[in-house]
Amino acid sequence: MRRTKIIATIGPSSENKKILKQMVKRGVDAFRINFAHGDHKKFTKYVNWIRKIEKELDKHIPIIGDIQTKVIRIKLSGELEIRKGARYIISRDRGIIVEEPTFYKNIHIGDYILLDDGLIEMKVDNVNINKTEITVTSLVNGTLKPNKKIIVKGKSTSGNLLTEKDLKDIKFIIENQLEYIAISMVRQKKDIVKVRKIIEELGGDPWVISKIEHPEALKSLEEITQASDGLLVARGDLGQHIELEKIPVIQRKIISLGSRYGKITILATQLLESMMHNETPTRAEVTDIFNAVEEGVDAIMLTGETAVGKYPIETISWAAKILEYADSYLEEKRPLHYKEDFIESLYDKFARGVIYIANLLEGRIVGYTKGGNTARRLSRYKPNIPIWITTHEKKVARKINILYGINPIHEEEPGDIMKILRKVKKRLFEKGELPKGTIVIYVVGMRKETTDVMRFEKI
Ligand code: PGA
Ligand code: MN
Repeated sequence: MRRTKIIATIGPSSENKKILKQMVKRGVDAFRINFAHGDHKKFTKYVNWIRKIEKELDKHIPIIGDIQTKVIRIKLSGELEIRKGARYIISRDRGIIVEEPTFYKNIHIGDYILLDDGLIEMKVDNVNINKTEITVTSLVNGTLKPNKKIIVKGKSTSGNLLTEKDLKDIKFIIENQLEYIAISMVRQKKDIVKVRKIIEELGGDPWVISKIEHPEALKSLEEITQASDGLLVARGDLGQHIELEKIPVIQRKIISLGSRYGKITILATQLLESMMHNETPTRAEVTDIFNAVEEGVDAIMLTGETAVGKYPIETISWAAKILEYADSYLEEKRPLHYKEDFIESLYDKFARGVIYIANLLEGRIVGYTKGGNTARRLSRYKPNIPIWITTHEKKVARKINILYGINPIHEEEPGDIMKILRKVKKRLFEKGELPKGTIVIYVVGMRKETTDVMRFEKI
């Protein structure tokens, strides 16, 4: 059974119900809507499709709304041929136009300007006295198209992280009850606090994922981790701001900090990049995914592969196959994902104890969670034991589907929790998931936000 989860980004190559449904059948556990591309009309369609597919396939599929945050784009009247060694002007009203005044605030001679996700790199030769215009020399040949992103390498844009557009997008996320919100370009803890405040004012409760892709975030990663429900290693943008050779180390650092605090960890970008054009992955990509599982991620997230790639469905099949093998291989090597430096509450420790016992008895876990805490606690130790978690909240069933090793079950009828769990056990028995002779371990948080009851039974 695969335990590491798969998140897929929706885009032009996957945006119809048939393809999305195929992707779920092949292994997608969650979808990401990237608010950087498309409009609310389109996103409403995506949400409706996913909610339908989920019903048809009897699954719980969470949706991640990924807000773009402040991005600076260039204005051009048409395409511009860029020649290596040639000089260009970037200003507010001529040459390559950047209207945003904060862009110029922090630029110095010798800085590097990256355009179009790093495809075009230029060096700053001069900055005018008013800081409204810079002269640059291109280091490459290329074609620059209108509306491409522009950044100053290694520097942060000042001002508010959230734009007017982000506020509208957050509203959409809450109104459409998406289960997760991902914040792009998080720099400090206060960025997350601000988003949480807006969410609260709007009356929503999505779990908050911080996308780590800006170098400034690396300076206070611990605080950011504590303030988030999860971390996403966004290697695409990260690789533009820092030296590529440092990425593996930073990736490990982010994943281990997430694990340390019991947060959800997700690895994204270029995992199966070659499958944008080919039907099979490269050896290096397969190894990259294996390593991520070993490092302790909850999920991998496909970006371009499923959004604009040629083989979105095949990509999912490969992701599922690679993860399934990695999970089963690690079964023996890693009985528990735990390190001495893990920060644990009393209830976390109890959950870890439950897993020790489940391992000892070679049992399977059937649990109950109200808001998701018990599921998160069990999942953080990445046990190899099959785990089913029941909840009364449809939203919670979806949320916990991203967690490593968790199989959510939604129970509609209210009633005594132990009775419900026995009913769930009966259903799983009938489905063959809990064969005769199995030790079933029940885990429950009887009081709000706790995990405090364990019982076992032999079927
Ligand atoms: P994006 O994030 O697709 O929203 O840019 C992923 C990344 O930067 O790696
Ligand atoms: Mn990014």
